[in-house]
Amino acid sequence: MTKNNRSINRRHFLKLLGGGAAITSLAGCRVRSKESEQTSTGEVPTDKMSYRTNPKTGDRISILGYGTMRWPTVSKQVALESKEAIDQEAVNELIDYAIAHGVNYFDTSPVYGQGFSERATGMALKRHPRHSFFLATKLSNFAPETWSREASIAMYRNSFKELQVDYIDYMLLHAVGMGNGMKEFEARYIKNGVLDFLLQERQEGRIRHLGFSYHGDIKVFDYLLSKHDFYQWDFALIQMNYLDWKHAKEIEPLNTNAEYLYTALSKQQIPVMIMEPLLGGRLSKVPDHIVARLKQREPNRSVASWAFRFAASFPNVLTVLSGMTYMEHLQDNIRSYAPLQPLTDEEKQFLYQTAGLIVQYPTIPCNDCKYCMPCPYGIDIPTILLHYNKCVNQGEVPESQQAENYREARQAFLVGYDRSVPRLRQASHCIGCNQCTTHCPQGINIPQELRRIDRYVEQLKQGTL
Ligand code: SF4
Ligand code: SF4
Repeated sequence: MTKNNRSINRRHFLKLLGGGAAITSLAGCRVRSKESEQTSTGEVPTDKMSYRTNPKTGDRISILGYGTMRWPTVSKQVALESKEAIDQEAVNELIDYAIAHGVNYFDTSPVYGQGFSERATGMALKRHPRHSFFLATKLSNFAPETWSREASIAMYRNSFKELQVDYIDYMLLHAVGMGNGMKEFEARYIKNGVLDFLLQERQEGRIRHLGFSYHGDIKVFDYLLSKHDFYQWDFALIQMNYLDWKHAKEIEPLNTNAEYLYTALSKQQIPVMIMEPLLGGRLSKVPDHIVARLKQREPNRSVASWAFRFAASFPNVLTVLSGMTYMEHLQDNIRSYAPLQPLTDEEKQFLYQTAGLIVQYPTIPCNDCKYCMPCPYGIDIPTILLHYNKCVNQGEVPESQQAENYREARQAFLVGYDRSVPRLRQASHCIGCNQCTTHCPQGINIPQELRRIDRYVEQLKQGTL
């Protein structure tokens, strides 16, 4: 167990915040520090992007894929006046820059960017020749009202309209395994005949490759692989990073280690696409002593670049998706992959050891995807969880009044909480209706976490810690 002024005793921490059930969802470390958020510097090459070739179709795909979940948005005022939430000019600029620097894979979904990502992505890509990029989208029929054949197919057809294309390069069944496991998977894709429909679409060429993205119940993943001979999956999208490689279950018991997922797919020669290479940004916001450890090895590389190189160093990986909202993230990621310098075995071991250190920090595995939002009672779930994580990582969650930095840490936690989350949207207003939990791909027991954070806030306020 790491112990210094800025770290906390995990077992003690869990006990303090309410018991053993918390262990699973509080594991995993992420620290926000100014240094850790720095990007690397230097030239951004235009002609050195690394590519992987799809063994089935010969598609030459950039190892850096553009995830479009979080496009830049306009101010609330502009959004109200124009009814457009996304900053289209900024999206155009980012996509143009990405393409000019060799990125050719773009991944979206009908539910990304408050439902506007497909349209914004389509508008930006329309300005480029269709053959110059590969487009991935998903059948995101999560909500029970979209489980019918008609609603699912309507969603599928609408993707073509929003994206302004007549074929999709990579189509995914979205987040299979989430929610109610096999039962939900069957309701979304099997009983309504939607998977049969998609297979037919593939045969007719409107879908060039058919795959799935996986979160949650491993039974669904294993089932899909057991049926590979029949479905002939062209690819699969999995969460993979150096923390999830061996520690996914410690972070969240519903998750499965990436080592298992990657190995199982590779055995069946199913190409792998990677999501969450930074675990929702948490591997770029690591604790200060982890930053120092990484910087000591590679002073000129960003902390994030270690995670990107890790994900791309596996030969069966076709592309690594990164949600790049800002130009500096895009530039930093291009630097990591133009060209890719694969990790050596020794460097991988170094990262596995680093993961072992990181996992000791009791943060909540929220990746800010916002699938749990909006909460019908107005709770700002991700901001609360992220504030909490930030404080854990900065050593601003004192474990008792005897803690060396108790006064400063208490103030930092409480003042920061009020600044980042308006009072009416704080954890104390959660009524525990549980409507959010089934939407969380990380399997976080949201009301339970909110209750514990609220209890902690009260203890801090009343000086009863
Ligand atoms: S459990 Fe709490 S946070 Fe979740 S939807 Fe209900 S009120 Fe909102
Ligand atoms: S759905 Fe889960 S991971 Fe996503 S923002 Fe909500 S709590 Fe975080």
